[in-house]
Amino acid sequence: MFSNLKPLFHNVPAGTPIIIAGPCSAESRELTIDAARRLKETGIHCFRAGVWKPRTKPGGFEGIGDPALAWLAEVKQSLDMPVATEVANARHAALAVEAGIDLLWIGARTTANPFAVQEIADYLATLPAEKLDALAVIVKNPVNPDLELWTGALQRIYGAGIRRLGAVHRGFSAYGPHIYRNPPEWRIPFELKRRCPELPLICDPSHIGGRRDLIEPLARQALEMNMDGLIVECHCRPDEALSDAAQQITPQTFAEILSRLRKPGGNVVDAGLDTLRESIDNIDTRILELLARRMEVAEEIGRLKKQHDIPVVQPDRYTRLLTKRVADARTLGLDEHFIQKILALIHEESVRRQLSL
Ligand code: PEP
Ligand code: MN
Repeated sequence: MFSNLKPLFHNVPAGTPIIIAGPCSAESRELTIDAARRLKETGIHCFRAGVWKPRTKPGGFEGIGDPALAWLAEVKQSLDMPVATEVANARHAALAVEAGIDLLWIGARTTANPFAVQEIADYLATLPAEKLDALAVIVKNPVNPDLELWTGALQRIYGAGIRRLGAVHRGFSAYGPHIYRNPPEWRIPFELKRRCPELPLICDPSHIGGRRDLIEPLARQALEMNMDGLIVECHCRPDEALSDAAQQITPQTFAEILSRLRKPGGNVVDAGLDTLRESIDNIDTRILELLARRMEVAEEIGRLKKQHDIPVVQPDRYTRLLTKRVADARTLGLDEHFIQKILALIHEESVRRQLSL
């Protein structure tokens, strides 16, 4: 689908993961340059910082805007390191290209909007050949789990003549309780990789996890699954960050994570075991999320019962539920007694919650 692609950067040795890191947002000249200097020491290939920030609600920090481009240009000049920022429309793209930004990323909210992506593509198509050839663009997955929309955005950018092209997996938004800020739904990026093996696929564990402690396991999982690189949010004072504070880590922490990730892995058996263990971890995560959702629904039911003076425990309903579940479990090859025990515990907890409302 994407022929004649060129590497995103010149400074990444073949077979090494592409590492992009930097703050969610360029908040001040000092913070930007300080983060870049520290991150350069960790061996990253490209420095990222948001200039224009899409925020979910008005009133949030929307980025410094145009003036922050000069700080990225300064990082590029003084540290001789490629720099990246997010563009959400043709105006952003033009200003970023004029400032000498090496890599543009299209954010998840923009990828979901074909009008905006086409507008950016139409601008890129007007660039002179040498600028077009030097410019790299990476396209984040859309917020919704839609592989066609993601591929379509990549095709629009490719159609504009961009050959330094890549995709970023940043997880997909979901409603209800979740451990991840944006659940990874790994099968979607894998399907993209299966269809387009030539396209570099970079994982963004910061926006998937939304939490500092999830960055390392997600990054490890992505690399073990043969993704081509990482984009990670790092800030010198993460607790004070004006956006995405909970998921930003210091350059020092990032250096430690990178050194653990770079350690040569175990033998093939270990690697196979690790992958299977990660599948188990993911499944357990889903079970916990579903249990949390079940308890929420049980409480909603509890409130209705209370309102209408219906007793909390109705033995008939429970017997019917149990019979149906046990039959379903049998169809799925699960042991009947094991499922009865689990269901009894879940039911007991639901009743306890309804009684304590
Ligand atoms: C970001 O990388 O800072 C960002 C806004 O990402 P996303 O588009 O994935 O939410
Ligand atoms: Mn962010």
